[in-house]
Amino acid sequence: RQAAFRSDIGALLEQVGTGKESLSFMKRRMRRLAAQWASAARRLNDRLRSQWREQKRILVHVGFLTEESGDVFSPKVLKGGPLGEMVQWADILTALHVLGHNLKISVSLKELQGFLGVPPGRGSCPLTGPLPFDLIYTDYHGLQQMRQHMGLSLRKHKCHIRVIDTFGTEPAYNHEDYATLHGYRTNWGYWNLNCRQYMTMFPHTPDNSFMGFVAEELNDTERLSIQRNKVDSMAVVYGKEASMWKGKERFLAILHRYMDIHGTVYYETQRPPEVPAFVKNHGLLPQQELQQLLRKAKLFIGFGFPYEGPAPLEAIANGCIFLQPKFKPSHSSLNHEFFRGKPTSRQVSSQHPYAEQYIGRPHVITVDFNNSQEFESAIQDIMKTKVEPYLPYEYTCEGMLERVHAYIQNQVGSPPNPFVLLPNSSALAWASNNISTPPSWPPLSALRLLASLEGQSCIDACQSAGLICEPAFYRFINIKEAFSGLEVQCDGVEAEINHIFPAFSVESSECGLQKDPLLFSCAGANNKYHRLCPCRDYRKGQVALCRDCL
Ligand code: UDP
Repeated sequence: RQAAFRSDIGALLEQVGTGKESLSFMKRRMRRLAAQWASAARRLNDRLRSQWREQKRILVHVGFLTEESGDVFSPKVLKGGPLGEMVQWADILTALHVLGHNLKISVSLKELQGFLGVPPGRGSCPLTGPLPFDLIYTDYHGLQQMRQHMGLSLRKHKCHIRVIDTFGTEPAYNHEDYATLHGYRTNWGYWNLNCRQYMTMFPHTPDNSFMGFVAEELNDTERLSIQRNKVDSMAVVYGKEASMWKGKERFLAILHRYMDIHGTVYYETQRPPEVPAFVKNHGLLPQQELQQLLRKAKLFIGFGFPYEGPAPLEAIANGCIFLQPKFKPSHSSLNHEFFRGKPTSRQVSSQHPYAEQYIGRPHVITVDFNNSQEFESAIQDIMKTKVEPYLPYEYTCEGMLERVHAYIQNQVGSPPNPFVLLPNSSALAWASNNISTPPSWPPLSALRLLASLEGQSCIDACQSAGLICEPAFYRFINIKEAFSGLEVQCDGVEAEINHIFPAFSVESSECGLQKDPLLFSCAGANNKYHRLCPCRDYRKGQVALCRDCL
């Protein structure tokens, strides 16, 4: 069946159900952004008119909202707890609904069992029949639950699963045996999925797929009124929980010399002691009212936590400048409690690396807050700088619909399934004969082969050439001809199980290919090696897609 775009979200709202504050939050968001989604759907429909889009049967199982996983989030929705995940799930559900797919939603084990056809009252009885869904979106909690309730058949159906994974999972952590042997074992990883099945909140490592979310878009009238009503001396602090303000008195005092400071910190009866008296605290605001506040403010300032949330994008979209601390050294799972045990070695260079690297000046200013002079002159600059509201295309409704559509239609199905990794020898034959290459998505025409600098990852190597690492292309470059193509001298070529390979060492003239396709890794880096990197182009404002990807 052909999927038809939907402009009405009534049926979706009904499906989401009631009884939890988190679900009410998600439904308020869906209602608020409904018109924006509908007009994005019209535009995308016009562009894709000639394309056949198959309607998929999709199950969305939101594991972290189930009672069985403890549901620590729902009770905190109105108390300053994290909302980023709920923002993202609301947007994923809306995107899938608007794209016209056949959706089932579950937020409890009982619903999950019902949808999967597991007989009631037999909790651990594995699913025996065929999987009644083409795709299942879930999270790490949901994955655990599915393992318990689908038993061995989970393995068989694994390629239908997509894991919404905020911070990302790198290949070395995802490969169970390798992670266990080489110290990459965490509480979360080791599922042996294809890493592109993990879908992140921001484009972190391209080993994963970038799912994202959306922020509010402005029409011309709103833009104009923002321009008129901006108050150059008004700042809003990023952080809805009092603990995020702890120890920041010094910065607040400097900032207060120049600007009026507003906060949206949750409190019960009394002003939290962490928030100084000169701050106008509005208490936690509904999303819509926060937008109004951001429309007036000139500066949105982060003090280092929370990491990588949606709020800075919302602020920039409403014409604020986002000022945030640079982290020196970077934060990571090796040196910071928050990231400890997360299945990634990613180096987080500031509170919001996406804002720093993909948006940058004049909308985003990243400085060392410990240098008071640098901090103070950044504030002075901000008060003088005029900026327009800005939202990267990939965070608009149309951008998210375009991306999710491309994943759904291309990351599955017709042989060879990109999630069934090809054996080395056949990749070799295809690439070296170059006669009949198997269909690939992204299309092979986008491939550019590069060698990284010593110690550099393929993420960085591709980026410095204005490209992006494309893990789907590793199978084509994991061949000995790739070394000669780059005029690398090899004393023989070995294949090894090592997430750094394919790679070479100049010093030892050692060249290595990857033996286990599950370990192809854009993120991997090692001081002794130059890596072979499969890069591709990307669309401006839509890094997930290459020029010919649609
Ligand atoms: N938010 C809100 N009211 C507030 C402050 C924030 O509704 O007073 C919303 C905001 O619009 C954003 C969401 O909370 O979409 C998540 O914010 P944040 O960036 O703080 O990420 P988190 O740490 O909650 O995941």
